[in-house]
Amino acid sequence: MASLSIENLTKRFGTSVAVDGLDLAVQEGELVALLGPSGCGKTTTLRMVAGFLPPTSGRVLFDTEDVTRLPAHKRSTGMVFQSYALFPHMTAAQNVGFGLEMRGLGAAERQAQIEKVLKLVRLSHLAARFPRELSGGQQQRVALARALVIKPKLFLLDEPLSNLDAKLRAEVRIEIRALQQRLGLTTLMVTHDREEALTMADRLVVMESGRVRQIGSPRDLYDAPQDAFVADFVGRCNILAGRRESETQFRTESGLVLSVDIAPNESKNANAFALRPERISIQPGAKGDLHGAVQAVTYLGSQTEYHVRIGEEIFVVIQQTPDANEPLASVRPEDQVSLHWDRKSPRLVPQT
Ligand code: ATP
Repeated sequence: MASLSIENLTKRFGTSVAVDGLDLAVQEGELVALLGPSGCGKTTTLRMVAGFLPPTSGRVLFDTEDVTRLPAHKRSTGMVFQSYALFPHMTAAQNVGFGLEMRGLGAAERQAQIEKVLKLVRLSHLAARFPRELSGGQQQRVALARALVIKPKLFLLDEPLSNLDAKLRAEVRIEIRALQQRLGLTTLMVTHDREEALTMADRLVVMESGRVRQIGSPRDLYDAPQDAFVADFVGRCNILAGRRESETQFRTESGLVLSVDIAPNESKNANAFALRPERISIQPGAKGDLHGAVQAVTYLGSQTEYHVRIGEEIFVVIQQTPDANEPLASVRPEDQVSLHWDRKSPRLVPQT
């Protein structure tokens, strides 16, 4: 495998800029996910790395080799698409072997490699099936095998799980990640699914309008987003506009005073309070400084989500579902509750 360097990569379509001066380094064996809203330039970036689309300016390097002008078929990348893109008239084994045939490998060598890689994705027993005889998850594993069999320098995943149902997606996610780690595959993945990005990636790149907003580990981005856009994009978040009142207080535009500990994480132009729903604890009754009426209680199995109105603000709180005998279990809409958090939990971030 190779490392990947993207340097000042830009793509313009007419007057619009799809990717705007992107810099990114993916280490050998690392899985990096490009995450962002529709149209932010994720797929365009991946296509330029694969060689399907020429950049307007900037460079793409595999290790130290500049591949910017190299056509796709000479880049040795293994790509897996959302649509699987299997040949319908070929069996699973033939689909996997196609790339090897193109590379001129003899029949015996091909067969050995096909068997090896099908075993890797646990599909040996289905080698003779056609795509229409396979489930979505199995088809996606054939697509993975087909990408892996050519021993690519770089593995590219374009929303690989979005055609699978929720349960299967969670399974295949773990399977791909395990395979990627075991084989040490340098991987660039595109997704708009934050859960997928958080659970699979070593590092995430949050993009917006063709630019990088923040790069970091899932934990960095979740716990220390640098602005309100990133805070909101990588997970649920209570974001309230306002200003800092003192070292320990933030005043929302609607006049609520919230406790914070500004010193360690203060950003110069912070004008929003950001707090994850699971960092808030909720207690029945109107005790404490911050209390209000429950608007909705949503049971999610192991967790319960509460919407609580305080003044003009609605706070979203997510807690482990209480045991049936705990007082919180009987909280209903219209009941009064109070909210608490560790003053170190909120972040103050710029809202851009
Ligand atoms: P999605 O999650 O919806 O796939 P994305 O983040 O992958 O979105 P891109 O497909 O990279 O976004 O598109 C980035 C921008 O470039 C969009 O505004 C899109 O309309 C534009 N764009 C992409 N391809 C072309 C093209 N061939 N011609 C003109 N504009 C394009």
